[in-house]
Amino acid sequence: MSGSEIAPEEAAEHLSDVPESDQPAAQPSKSSLKKAARREKLAAFKLERRAREKLAKKEKKRIKAEKRAAGELDSEDEPKAKKRRIAGPPFGGRVVVDLGFDKIMTEKEVQSLCSQLGYTYSANRHSGHPFALFFTSLDGKTLARLESLGDASYKRWTNTQWWSEGYERLWETDPAVKQSIVYLTADSDEELTELKPDETYVIGGICDHNRYKNECLNKAQATGIRTARLPIGTYLADLRSRKVLTVNQAFEILVHWVETRDWESAFHAVIPKRKFDENKGNDKVKSVKPEKAASETVVVSVEELETNDST
Ligand code: SAH
Repeated sequence: MSGSEIAPEEAAEHLSDVPESDQPAAQPSKSSLKKAARREKLAAFKLERRAREKLAKKEKKRIKAEKRAAGELDSEDEPKAKKRRIAGPPFGGRVVVDLGFDKIMTEKEVQSLCSQLGYTYSANRHSGHPFALFFTSLDGKTLARLESLGDASYKRWTNTQWWSEGYERLWETDPAVKQSIVYLTADSDEELTELKPDETYVIGGICDHNRYKNECLNKAQATGIRTARLPIGTYLADLRSRKVLTVNQAFEILVHWVETRDWESAFHAVIPKRKFDENKGNDKVKSVKPEKAASETVVVSVEELETNDST
């Protein structure tokens, strides 16, 4: 290539500089020029303001440091200490959420269940005496839903274990472990009196809006483990009927009991207040479908759960 020749890419640049016609390029209008000037002014003003704010902050910090050094700072001026959860030792007991029911749940119920699992995890995380939390029979729709949430954030939940196998794996290597496992279900004839650190409590990971009865009881019996219901009727005179709670409510009651050793306060803390009124025969109970009313069941719905501040 000789010195006078122009490389192809340079040629392209030159070409783009050449006006397409001999007509002078359209002049920007007066108003667009004005607007541009205003924009520039605003941007400059913003920069200036930021710089001023930065300086003021620095100065404030410096004055505070001086005051602190001179012992002139009163407690009002000091930043509040971050509220920290007082973490005690873990309770020792285990809670298993049995996720083996997703074939009998609708897609929407699976979604609600997954929200309940989130509340369950959160309650455990914020407890001063957390349980070891296991999720078993993770598969199918529940697995798919969890995978789709927050970039599969469930995998990062601390102090949890996720098994694709059923809870039977707990006694796989030591059959004696089976004696220490209790399936919690409102349909049990046994009433829970206390929680023991060497026991494992199974909660049925099922959201069915009370379509089914005895699902968990039957499963527990089929796998040969003990069952127990929460002692709601014993402690809450107003709630003598069969009480079916959501997964996280059942779990939160366990957490509260561990913290207070007091069933009554645990129930009051978790069961929505209006449940008590409903039981006294107000309009909500009247709206319960006849077959449900016949079995005297009060169901705490997911909608209630989702508006429940404690969750
Ligand atoms: N319809 C389901 C129950 C779903 S409630 C069935 O037929 O078994 C979800 C879970 O919360 C239950 O499996 C149980 O582990 C727990 N639970 C709810 N209410 C309870 C109660 N009153 N006592 C003990 N466990 C309860």
